[in-house]
Amino acid sequence: MDLEIENYNARLKDASPQEILGFFAKEFKGRIAFATSLGAEDQVITEMIAGIDPDMKIFTLDTGRLFQETYDLLDITRKKYGLAIEVSFPDAVDVEEMVNKHGINLFYESVENRKLCCFIRKTEPLSRALQGTDAWICGLRRDQSVTRQQISIVERDNIQNKIKINPLADWGLEQVWGYIREKKIPYNTLHDKGFPSIGCLPCTRAILPGEDIRAGRWWWESSENRECGLHQKL
Ligand code: SF4
Repeated sequence: MDLEIENYNARLKDASPQEILGFFAKEFKGRIAFATSLGAEDQVITEMIAGIDPDMKIFTLDTGRLFQETYDLLDITRKKYGLAIEVSFPDAVDVEEMVNKHGINLFYESVENRKLCCFIRKTEPLSRALQGTDAWICGLRRDQSVTRQQISIVERDNIQNKIKINPLADWGLEQVWGYIREKKIPYNTLHDKGFPSIGCLPCTRAILPGEDIRAGRWWWESSENRECGLHQKL
């Protein structure tokens, strides 16, 4: 049992996302960061952080394969909230070696290749962006997918060796969109075109009515494989 994590979860079990963010902004002042992918949940958290602790480090991972709509939203969000959202890029030499060895669209060929691409373009830049922190925040929700049903508000991330905070773990999709509408938060226009979950362009498609909200991510793989490695557990 991890007593530190148990204590945090017991203390915050009835707290709102804003209270959770406020608590950890103080608890880890200067040693906490928010990793945004600019998805709907992350836009909610960005709006909250702008009101709670605008100096908190916020960063996004530019894999080099994102949608133009995502880049547009990055600029719009920076300007609207006056936040310096940092951008973390993959190591150029690693990307060159990978692409020259396996091809530019290697991810379609095997789960192994796809995970290699996600590691080089996402996981390694995430680790670099988190250097110097003890905790990180992300927008995971329990009902997003079969791979996320067990998440807690506070977890131990044994891969990054940090505390991981999921302030929206208890929220449903309706709460997310209700908050976005109420606060007039900018969101990715692809959400209006059948993309509930948005990642890299070649690995994201629109979903059909009735499909799982993560069905459009790495749709050629089985559902239990559909994580990029950022949220895996040891
Ligand atoms: Fe590469 Fe696709 Fe992963 Fe993006 S989502 S890093 S393009 S495999």
